Amino acid sequence: MTPTSSLKPHIVTLGTAGGPRWWAAADSGERTGIATAVVVGDAFYLVDFGQGAGRRLSQSGLQLKDLRALFITHLHSDHVYDLAGLGIFGLYALTERTENPVRIIGPGNRGELPAVSPRAVVEPQPLAPENPTPGTRQMFEQLMKAHATDLNDRILDSLRPSPLDIFHAEDIQIPAESGYHPNNNPTPDMEPFEVYRDELVTVTAILVEHPPVA
Ligand SMILES: [Zn+2]
Repeated sequence: MTPTSSLKPHIVTLGTAGGPRWWAAADSGERTGIATAVVVGDAFYLVDFGQGAGRRLSQSGLQLKDLRALFITHLHSDHVYDLAGLGIFGLYALTERTENPVRIIGPGNRGELPAVSPRAVVEPQPLAPENPTPGTRQMFEQLMKAHATDLNDRILDSLRPSPLDIFHAEDIQIPAESGYHPNNNPTPDMEPFEVYRDELVTVTAILVEHPPVA
């Protein structure tokens, strides 16, 4: 039993600092990127996993083995920066989870780049033009592949599982009837739709205005 298991469902704010920076200015102390744990009985869920969230999670007393799923609100870096750390360091605490991987659920591939700002003087050149708007699944898989030299040492020499067997990253399918379009209609009127369910929780999502993404 964890110390939290007798409490009603509650949240633990692991980090609340928004914006793509380290937030270590002398007058602000050491801030952590956005991450929230939702604790339900002996299980917990994560919503976003920003910079420093892995360390905060390890300090929180929550046990990684009790993690059911991670939900990503959107793919801005201040909400996802520690995903690589979760995949690489987390697999040591989760070696038994190959039959029951931790689901990482978030937005799919945006499909189109945003419009170029009218303030542009020179046409900006996008990063990774062959796939410039990866979604949650591609992002997580690419992060792990970027660390393949290290991870393959561990898989082949230390006989560790692959993080792609421990974590299952998947893209939320937005209901087609919503009329969603990443640039022309990013936040149509809609009802919340289900993205996850287990015996403890049901998780629904809705598109929220956050230009230039939803
Ligand atoms: Zn954002």
